[in-house]
Amino acid sequence: MSTFLQLGVPQRFVKRLDDRGITAPFEIQAATLPDGIAGFDVCGKAPTGSGKTIAFGLVLAVRLRKSKPGRPGGLVLVPTRELAIQVAKEIALLCQGTDLRVAMVYGGAGYGPQVRAVRGASIIVATPGRLEDLIERGDVSLGSVTIAVLDEADRMSDMGFLPAVRRILRALPKQRQILLFSATLDGDISQVVKEFLNDPRRHETKTEEAEPDIEHKFWLVNRNDRIETVAQMTNHYERIILFCRTKHGCDRVAKQLAVAGVKSSVIHGNKSQAQREKSLEEFRRGRSNMLVATDVAARGIHIDDVPCVVHFDPPAEYKDYIHRSGRTGRAGSTGVVVSLVDPSQRRSVSRLARDAGVEPDFGSPELEVSARESLRVRPGSLGGVLLAVSRG
Ligand code: ADP
Ligand code: MG
Repeated sequence: MSTFLQLGVPQRFVKRLDDRGITAPFEIQAATLPDGIAGFDVCGKAPTGSGKTIAFGLVLAVRLRKSKPGRPGGLVLVPTRELAIQVAKEIALLCQGTDLRVAMVYGGAGYGPQVRAVRGASIIVATPGRLEDLIERGDVSLGSVTIAVLDEADRMSDMGFLPAVRRILRALPKQRQILLFSATLDGDISQVVKEFLNDPRRHETKTEEAEPDIEHKFWLVNRNDRIETVAQMTNHYERIILFCRTKHGCDRVAKQLAVAGVKSSVIHGNKSQAQREKSLEEFRRGRSNMLVATDVAARGIHIDDVPCVVHFDPPAEYKDYIHRSGRTGRAGSTGVVVSLVDPSQRRSVSRLARDAGVEPDFGSPELEVSARESLRVRPGSLGGVLLAVSRG
């Protein structure tokens, strides 16, 4: 087992990692840091929660020097605002003690503060849309970027992002290093790799220490009984992230949960940046027990100690199953993933789970209703079908 020092990380960075309790490199870090620090292009594939942020963040922190105003030397592309914030925070920690400043660039917030931050930054962590805006306005140039990172690269390579990602990568200088990290490296990513990476070093790990220890459950629950089931689950799991297919679905579920006595926070693309951060903060601090989210909003988000993820609606594709499920069992802790499956969805969910590498075993909900809880019907509430759980 190598140390950060042996992997080529200078002592002063190692000491600061140590101060934060990060003493032994995770497997993906051990695999990619030597090549990254040596300046090679890198493709890293590792499960969620395996420490990819520090794997690329250290390369930026170690290799970059302070850059000229508006001309960052480092660029990290991420799919969502929340991830931009999370990744920027981590990189800023890694850069402590250097003169490297990190700026966040994402949509749904004012330009002023971002423009000012970008001017003094050597590293920009950005979602593609807003970055292109700032380039167009002349606030930032990519002409001095020497290291670019694609985080969540599979998502960055899908139809929604690919055109913008291509334009951005084309605007980079020819002499540059590209690091690409993802939980999956198949499909459209290979195109991006072929077009933009130069003889990349590939590393794939199935990390032992951070391999998510996740139990996958598939409960057959009629569509109309899902809220009741979820409400009961809050007696078993202190914190739950619940995924819905649509923004509208998230809002509806949150309302129905409220009727059932469960406080939840909602996060999806129609919410303002301020609302989304407030929701995350509420959930992080335990002021709500449930985070109700769409796939896009929760992409890559790391929240410590989430014991349970619920697929309230089945995900659209197997990759979403993997990403949603990866919100629990992070960094070596254990987690439970529950899919609520209407009997009519059994076949499609089976196929999707198998594609995600999980053999589904369908059964009824494993929830003991304690004697102190009784179920009662609230006539007329939300169409008269909602069962509310009352406690005490
Ligand atoms: P990924 O991007 O692979 O899904 P993250 O980069 O979000 O994973 O890391 C998950 C968690 O693991 C974070 O809380 C991070 O601080 C922690 N972590 C990363 N590397 C180490 C390490 N070497 N030792 C201890 N904790 C680590
Ligand atoms: Mg990540």
